[in-house]
Amino acid sequence: MSLKCVVIGGGAAGFFGAIACAQKNPLAQVTILEKTRQVLAKVRISGGGRCNVTHACFDPAQLVKNYPRGNKALLGPFHRFQPRDTIEWFEKRGVMLKTEEDGRMFPLTDSSQTIIECLMQAARKAKVEIKLEAGIVRIEREAGQFKLFLGDGECHYADRLLLATGSHPLAFQWAAALGHTIVPPVPSLFTFNIQNFSLKELAGVSVEQAEAKIEGTALAQSGPLLITHWGFSGPAALKLSAWGARDLHQKGYKGTLVINWIPQFLADRALSTLQQGRKKLARRSLGSENPFSLPRQLWKALLIRAEIEAEKKWVNLDNASLNRLVQRLQEDRYLIEGKSTYKQEFVTCGGVHLDEINFKAMESRLCPHLYFAGEILDIDGVTGGFNFQNAWTTSWLAGQAMAIEE
Ligand SMILES: Cc1cc2nc3c(=O)[nH]c(=O)nc-3n(C[C@H](O)[C@H](O)[C@H](O)COP(=O)(O)OP(=O)(O)OC[C@H]3O[C@@H](n4cnc5c(N)ncnc54)[C@H](O)[C@@H]3O)c2cc1C
Repeated sequence: MSLKCVVIGGGAAGFFGAIACAQKNPLAQVTILEKTRQVLAKVRISGGGRCNVTHACFDPAQLVKNYPRGNKALLGPFHRFQPRDTIEWFEKRGVMLKTEEDGRMFPLTDSSQTIIECLMQAARKAKVEIKLEAGIVRIEREAGQFKLFLGDGECHYADRLLLATGSHPLAFQWAAALGHTIVPPVPSLFTFNIQNFSLKELAGVSVEQAEAKIEGTALAQSGPLLITHWGFSGPAALKLSAWGARDLHQKGYKGTLVINWIPQFLADRALSTLQQGRKKLARRSLGSENPFSLPRQLWKALLIRAEIEAEKKWVNLDNASLNRLVQRLQEDRYLIEGKSTYKQEFVTCGGVHLDEINFKAMESRLCPHLYFAGEILDIDGVTGGFNFQNAWTTSWLAGQAMAIEE
């Protein structure tokens, strides 16, 4: 009798794991059970339809720094399957990836369909069976096997079971019933909504390098910051939402966001730069010239927030106003009143507790022959292709391990 390996979930992790398993052991019978009519739905919409497959970061020690949850656990796995392996895997199957300036990697075609077709073809070639509309509702252990119940009462049996259901609540219930601890799921990668947002007219304006902090916490991130109609987005805000996912959830997504628009200037240098401006730009209006190369509309808005008239001449900038402006540039406070989903990518923080997994095989330490991969785990990365890399790495390891007959 051939080894029966079943993967629940036809997403990125499910496909990659099933293919790895079938390739490693061509005699094994590998099946993907997907509850919907369509596999790889998230891959399709990912990266705005372009699929940010991975990130051009090839040093595992650096790579793990992009995972607010899972950074320690992923170090070993990344030594075995990392972005370089992902690139090679797709290249070998005819899909070339390209790197954007910020390190994000996409298919050359800029279409997620390319990734979907590649995974579908690889699954077909490896003889992975795919069953659609096969939503599992219950799992039981029976004589060393897993008994999987479909909604209509039909059953499947598995010698090895990979749970790759993403952050589906039902799967957390099964994992808990099989002995696992579930770290409560909360959203990650969101944008900040600001109360009475005074910069909404500037929606679309971004600053290359800003720092965003949550007042009263150690949470701080820097990078490009984007002003939206509701508040703040862009890498600095998204990274902050990821690292602060649990804290912010506990605070009901309320708090004070403190923005330093010019983090490259220390407080003294900001002050002296403005003092020099007063001399050099004396006869010019404050609104027309700014020495920090900030977008002009933003600079004008910050002058208003510092109660300084934009028409005023630089030479007439008194010391009190100058100090207020420094304060505004470096500690600009906004009241957070909630969050919005970042449409390009959002993930769940929380999931199956990592201490209960053997990361060499992605196997449960509590229930032999049960494996986990992808977003079902308490692992999530910041935006940039890191979440798919987690799915590729953990499922590849799981697939390899599941394929081994005892
Ligand atoms: C809009 C959006 C864009 C994104 N873009 C990117 C990006 O560009 N780059 C990046 O790195 N990450 C991105 N992400 C995150 C990334 O998509 C996920 O981290 C990744 O898809 C997780 O893969 P997974 O296979 O673990 O779970 P999923 O992709 O969620 O797949 C789980 C599968 O399991 C199935 N399933 C669930 N329950 C059952 C059941 N009971 N029985 C049978 N089947 C079941 C589901 O229907 C689904 O098909 C994006 C996320 C979103 C929402």
